[in-house]
Amino acid sequence: MTLSNPDQASLVLSGAAILPDCHALLFNSAIAVVDGVIQACGDRSHIRRQFAGIPEVHVDDCVLMPGFVNAHSHLELSFLAGQIPGPARFPDWVLQLMAAYPYAADAPDVFAASALLGAQESIRLGVTTVGDISRQHAIVRPALQATSPLGIVSFGEITALGSSRGQLEARLAAAMDCKTTDRFSIGLSPHAPYSVEGPALETIVNMARRYQLPLSMHLAELKEERDFLRDCSGPLGKSWMLMKRLDLLDDLVPMFADGPIQWAQHYGLFNAGVPVVLAHVNYADDTDLDILAGSGAAVAYCPRTRHYFGHDEIAPHPWQDMRKHGIRVCLATDSMASNPDLSLLREAQFLQQQCPSIDSQLLIQMITTEPAAALGLGQQIGRLASGFAADIIAMPVPRNALASAASFSDYLVREAPLPRKVWIHGREVFSASRSN
Ligand SMILES: [Zn+2]
Repeated sequence: MTLSNPDQASLVLSGAAILPDCHALLFNSAIAVVDGVIQACGDRSHIRRQFAGIPEVHVDDCVLMPGFVNAHSHLELSFLAGQIPGPARFPDWVLQLMAAYPYAADAPDVFAASALLGAQESIRLGVTTVGDISRQHAIVRPALQATSPLGIVSFGEITALGSSRGQLEARLAAAMDCKTTDRFSIGLSPHAPYSVEGPALETIVNMARRYQLPLSMHLAELKEERDFLRDCSGPLGKSWMLMKRLDLLDDLVPMFADGPIQWAQHYGLFNAGVPVVLAHVNYADDTDLDILAGSGAAVAYCPRTRHYFGHDEIAPHPWQDMRKHGIRVCLATDSMASNPDLSLLREAQFLQQQCPSIDSQLLIQMITTEPAAALGLGQQIGRLASGFAADIIAMPVPRNALASAASFSDYLVREAPLPRKVWIHGREVFSASRSN
């Protein structure tokens, strides 16, 4: 048996079955965890012999599977749940969001409590790692690190456009000023094409390359980004109430005629040599898809948020074309300001309700292994295997769903059940029997 450190989580876990990844359901199996890391996943009697000194936790009528990974959310906006009624046009939604948004220096408790609420909700819904976009990172990061066990890649959000470009250096330094741990790392998030001008994007990308930080950006979320980049026109441009109020635009903002994906390519977003997560990409033509296919960037598709903003009425999301091009696509929730909850299973369920032929196992892949890889954590989380973090959820399951990985995945997507227990790095962080 492997000796374990008493300060770290070590246990043997078993249940009705184990789903190490979306492809196979293992019976008579167990998972050995030493110091928060999976040592073995396989035959239960063999593991019990090999790890005889470590206590076993058996969860009846549950399948043990990897915790879900949400590649794109904004935990600090959880306080806006239900505050902005949809369907909303995006520019109006931003104005409503700004109206409800407290001045950070006056309301640090709002953002800290909001992020913790989002983290707690995520865990209750079986999410064990979040790619969290944080504008209030100076407040939110210490609060999350001190209080929440959730795995987080905290992308410090940066805007730098027109008259605010002089603040870029200070904003970058602040976004990178954070101690990291094995469950809390950081990245950079240039916000969007209508809030970060091209040269500023280039500077942020260079910093990410230098310090090997992952990047995340809202890109091609809106058709109107093209007009804005071309000549600052359209609903996101000069006439937008927000642009008028902030008075950011000046003559030095560079124009770009070929849309947001070619713009991002032009300013180096796809050449940073770090993981890149693109939020939404609702609009992409064949040229764009070819660029994305060669870029290695992943797409975080947020089905319910997209629906909330009415994009489904214009055209279906090109995620299946993206996959045919070899682009990695994962499902994500975005924030509670545009989504009723932070459940990844409900994103999968929503997508399958729109298109019943979508394979459930693929959808499970899109909320486990795909987002883990998108965040650059594909060898650490997202599956249950030796050397991976023991981020594990116990999902209750009826006997008739246990025939195969396919039937279990169908059940998960159809019913979107809540986990009975959640472990992060081998520590039990949620138990339905105790919490309810
Ligand atoms: Zn977002």
